[in-house]
Amino acid sequence: MHEFSLAQSVQETVLSVAKERAAKEINKVILKFGAFALIEEDQFRFCFDILKKESILLKETELEIIWIPGKLRCQECSFRGNIDDIPQKHTELAPIFQCPKCKSYVTDIISGTEATIDSIVIK
Ligand SMILES: [Zn+2]
Repeated sequence: MHEFSLAQSVQETVLSVAKERAAKEINKVILKFGAFALIEEDQFRFCFDILKKESILLKETELEIIWIPGKLRCQECSFRGNIDDIPQKHTELAPIFQCPKCKSYVTDIISGTEATIDSIVIK
């Protein structure tokens, strides 16, 4: 389960930062997820809630998720655009995006694959 291992790595990083700074409480964790990172927000929050209970520092932590829109560049015609504009096909491995201008499937993702910790608010 992708979301659980992601939640675990967020938990580990946040706790190690909090311990380094001798925090008494972690008020808020702000994460940045890309639209192409294939993360289910509800599932992620569910997993993180379970992990929160393992640590006193995390018990009252608020989780904020900022979604970064996905952007593509077409290799055939150099079109650039957001995910919303672009028809997509889902395969078992990853979504494939079609250029709306020339219909090519040879496209590069130029943003929106990130899954990072933006900031941690501690007390
Ligand atoms: Zn194109």
